[in-house]
Amino acid sequence: MASRVHFIKASVGEGERAISEKARALFRAGGFAGCFKENDFTAVKVHVGEDKNTTYIKAPCLKGLVEELIRLKTKPFITDTSTLYTGRRHNAIDHTILATERGFSVEGLGVPFIAPDGLFGTAETVVPIDGELDREVSIASDIVRCQSILSVAHFTGHCAACAGATLKTLGMGCSSRKGKMRQHAALKPQVKKGKCTRCGECYRHCPAEAIMLDEVQAHIDKDKCIGCAECVAVCRFDAVEYDWRQENSILQKSIAEHALGALQGKQGRAVFFNFLLSITSDCDCFDRPNMPTMAPDIGILASTDPVAVDQAGVDLVEARGGRKLSLLIGNSKLDWRYQIEHAVKIGLGEADYELVEVGK
Ligand code: SF4
Ligand code: SF4
Repeated sequence: MASRVHFIKASVGEGERAISEKARALFRAGGFAGCFKENDFTAVKVHVGEDKNTTYIKAPCLKGLVEELIRLKTKPFITDTSTLYTGRRHNAIDHTILATERGFSVEGLGVPFIAPDGLFGTAETVVPIDGELDREVSIASDIVRCQSILSVAHFTGHCAACAGATLKTLGMGCSSRKGKMRQHAALKPQVKKGKCTRCGECYRHCPAEAIMLDEVQAHIDKDKCIGCAECVAVCRFDAVEYDWRQENSILQKSIAEHALGALQGKQGRAVFFNFLLSITSDCDCFDRPNMPTMAPDIGILASTDPVAVDQAGVDLVEARGGRKLSLLIGNSKLDWRYQIEHAVKIGLGEADYELVEVGK
């Protein structure tokens, strides 16, 4: 049976207050209040944006959703896990300070930012799953312990997974450091001959000390590499590459399996929002301001089905962008369908959906 995905048109130009009210209207129209119970500890999973990133979904846009959870007498907390790569989201202290500066805080939203994976990203619970790649996955402890989840994803392209939306927010964004390393395990990039300028940026950012610089170029030690993709993100000379056809399918399947773990025990207790605003071809982990968009603003999607909400997002972005997502992000070798198809296969949701437009 097709899953219902609710949709409301919106654009950044309307302002954060209007976006917040539209998200609230979607929450009410979708009848999502029933997923949350009084005294629930409710994780509001967000991405506060890397330090210089300016295209992430801003905190005031989430005020209406947080107020709905408070009205329902849950105990919401804003949350996100530590990153594998270095930066201001690498540990809970720096991440919390960045979140607070950006209004993801008691002062800004009336509820605290709490890292669910502890100070160092290592507070985890091993969750058994019926997966194809794994029989258990490592999920941030407080994601497992809380009673309900309101996931807020910014729909973007992604340099390895093609689409970065709800499944990636749940799979990568709710895993502990170990869970993230497991998902990246298949990704082993290499430096292209003749492209490297020896700028050293990848060497400085690599969290695994897997990069060496000789007198000609950078080299990656594949035994040390944990596949975090930081070198791909920081190289400004397009000098680091993957064998995408082999590797992005495994990454995407692993993301879906970790999403399954993150939602374990929360059937009927989770709601997924995709914000199709400032639709950049790379995700909010990119430490750059004013990243170019690949499609005009579309609106907000919400569903209790994490697969259907992503499928609807891809369909709307491809329709509005006028091309396949892989072409919009500039890498024809990537294919977003792996994560959706695998998520359906392991029982996470349905790709078939009925789009219900709100406020027409
Ligand atoms: S960031 Fe790119 S250009 Fe700079 S050293 Fe690394 S591979 Fe070479
Ligand atoms: S070499 Fe491996 S571990 Fe180092 S930044 Fe690149 S992907 Fe990450």
